[in-house]
Amino acid sequence: MSETNAFITRTDIESDDSGPLDGQTVAVKDNISTKGVRTTCGSAMLEEYVPPYDATVVSKLKDAGATIVGKTNMDEFGMGTTTETSAFGATENPAAPGRVPGGSSGGSAAAVAAGEADLALGSDTGGSVRCPAAFCGVVGIKPTYGLVSRYGLVAYANSLEQIGPIAPTVESAAQLLEVIAGDDSHDATTRETDATYADAADGDVDGLTVGVPTELVDGADDAVVEQFEATLDSLCEQGAETVEVSLPSVETAVQAYYVIAMSEASSNLARFDGVRYGPDTEAEGNWNDSFAAVREEGFGEEVKRRILLGTYALSAGYHDKYYKKAQDARAWVRQDFAEAFESADVIASPTMPVAPFERGESLDDPLQMYLADANTVPVNLANLPAISVPAGETEEGPVGLQLVGEAFDERTIIRTASAAE
Ligand code: GLN
Repeated sequence: MSETNAFITRTDIESDDSGPLDGQTVAVKDNISTKGVRTTCGSAMLEEYVPPYDATVVSKLKDAGATIVGKTNMDEFGMGTTTETSAFGATENPAAPGRVPGGSSGGSAAAVAAGEADLALGSDTGGSVRCPAAFCGVVGIKPTYGLVSRYGLVAYANSLEQIGPIAPTVESAAQLLEVIAGDDSHDATTRETDATYADAADGDVDGLTVGVPTELVDGADDAVVEQFEATLDSLCEQGAETVEVSLPSVETAVQAYYVIAMSEASSNLARFDGVRYGPDTEAEGNWNDSFAAVREEGFGEEVKRRILLGTYALSAGYHDKYYKKAQDARAWVRQDFAEAFESADVIASPTMPVAPFERGESLDDPLQMYLADANTVPVNLANLPAISVPAGETEEGPVGLQLVGEAFDERTIIRTASAAE
């Protein structure tokens, strides 16, 4: 185990091809399938699972000439904000010792921050690329839903999630996005694109309007807001202007997100039944007993909590009360963003309302952990693109600036972020 514990499995997969990622090392989150290399999702359930195929993004890395140096640590099945729910131990934050690296793609961000990989891939269902990028002082992009193939990504909540790049600079993150973006016959939600991204990192924000939603700033810690405002000032000095916008629906976003994410998870994780996947147990006899024994042994506490709550939210009699209500809130969030974009080109907020937690701090209080996702989950509910770029430090660690764009307008958030860095 290295000091950071950023990797669950180390690899040295060199590419035979040559392309834009020649000579670059890339770390891949351990919920992204790699042919012949175990892919655990941070779970004891998949400790020995070796996929027979590569995720589309992994094939694209190989085609682009990258060297894959390992599979990174993560909250179990992506469920968490600290990388502490992993069955493979916690990851250290190289930018804030003693504190969590964020999650769930904490291993990917820590690997980049510690220089153990040039670039990394994470996945973002409700903030899991942006949160660890913010906490570790690096750049992370959550692409528009449908820009990057999810083929080979082990599903947590598939209507919300995208694979996204983590990198030391905006330009290198944009270049990695360029490599992984585009349509894929294996994922019907993807769309064709010939957009380029790296060249958008030109720092030109002259005439750009940055919308600032009061709701996403008011809830943040003072020390975080101070850094956020200093970064906005610097954008204004470079020719941007700020306007206040309002997103009243975000008040319901965390609740709606967790109902939808847990509901989808309860269905997606039903496949881990001990027949196709999972550890051998001593349980004999009927199917229910062996199914229960495997899941008791293979899943951690947070995963069990979410499967139970998700199953409850979808059950007959409660479906309309919880799941349907959450879908209504989701539509409201989407509409709020559309209105905000009538007066702004991008929407800015702190990525996380708090600085990195101390290790162990949030484990006994899942609700506190869920609330830390207040600024990131609305973006997934609306399927929009967002970037987190370093925006100074508090005494407790790095702060991230989140910039949200209109659907498939990654270029504008990349441009704005490059002016902020
Ligand atoms: N922290 C959020 C959750 O636990 C987001 C996780 C993610 O994006 N995978 O669901």
